[in-house]
Amino acid sequence: MKALVYLAPGKKNLEDRPIPEITSPMDAIVKVTKTTICGTDLHILKGDVPTCEPGRILGHEGVGIIDKVGSGVTEFKPGDHVLISCITADGKCEYCRKGMYSHCINGGWILGHKIDGTQAEYVRIPYADTSLYKIPAGADEDAIVMLSDILPTGFECGVLNGKVQPGSTVAIVGSGPIGLAALLTAQFYSPSEIIMIDLDDNRLAVAKKFGATATINSSDGKAPEKLMKMTNGRGVDTAIEAVGIPATFNICEDIVAPGGTIANIGVHGTKVDLHLERSWSQNISITTRLVDTFATPMLLKTVVSKKINPNLLISHHFKLDTILEAYETFGQAAKTKALKVIIDV
Ligand SMILES: [Zn+2]
Ligand SMILES: [Zn+2]
Repeated sequence: MKALVYLAPGKKNLEDRPIPEITSPMDAIVKVTKTTICGTDLHILKGDVPTCEPGRILGHEGVGIIDKVGSGVTEFKPGDHVLISCITADGKCEYCRKGMYSHCINGGWILGHKIDGTQAEYVRIPYADTSLYKIPAGADEDAIVMLSDILPTGFECGVLNGKVQPGSTVAIVGSGPIGLAALLTAQFYSPSEIIMIDLDDNRLAVAKKFGATATINSSDGKAPEKLMKMTNGRGVDTAIEAVGIPATFNICEDIVAPGGTIANIGVHGTKVDLHLERSWSQNISITTRLVDTFATPMLLKTVVSKKINPNLLISHHFKLDTILEAYETFGQAAKTKALKVIIDV
């Protein structure tokens, strides 16, 4: 089968690999029909994720058809149409029993990281019963791919951790796919304002279409001043960090109102200054999280019933044969206006 393989920092290729086999009774082999590329895959390719070893097939998002199941799998059978979660969960360990599947001692984020991933014709999914979801008949496959990672991540790490409330004010720093996923799902709670902050006017224009009430281009370094002016000097109840660099976290510190919450989503590679000399008296909370995907079944219902339309997040389509081109396009988003790219396998 064809598979996108991480070879070394800065190096990847589309290679021929054997089709994976069942290695444990709880495994399923899924014939992938659609996958996508995540910002995290770009981090791996930069060498930022040393736990991902060369030779790994990348990808932790996708949908497909069950090809084979191990003898212990009871919820799925060959032919079932399934959503693959970016988080693998055994469903039994201490963390899983708390709903914190991201820290499952036998799973967590392993797909396309510690085990071979979804950017291939077939993928082996451990603990299939608790790591896959059935896709209802007639659902739009492209939209469902957005449920593997970015919608639950934006919702759980941004909206829920950020305690978005009816009538509250929200700012989302970073208008890429994850920030936009937070923007879409924040609207479940009817906040009065959602202000999007980004360096790229195209992404801010997209955010307006997605329901942002205002946008701020931060390229002049004056985003906090502009936001404070917009909010009569008050700041926002929820500041969601959706980039993962010190500058964007610092904006969140500058704009959170007393009593507010900074909800971090971004994958940070370097340390960030925490301005406790200003925030010690401000009653603020700072949250971090790796997506648990406990909200995936709920989000699946909202997508199937068209309460939200994640197709808006998809900018490009490619075939697996041209996945290297898809990486080029996704990696140069400012130039190509790429959001999520769907790869048909
Ligand atoms: Zn991801
Ligand atoms: Zn577990």
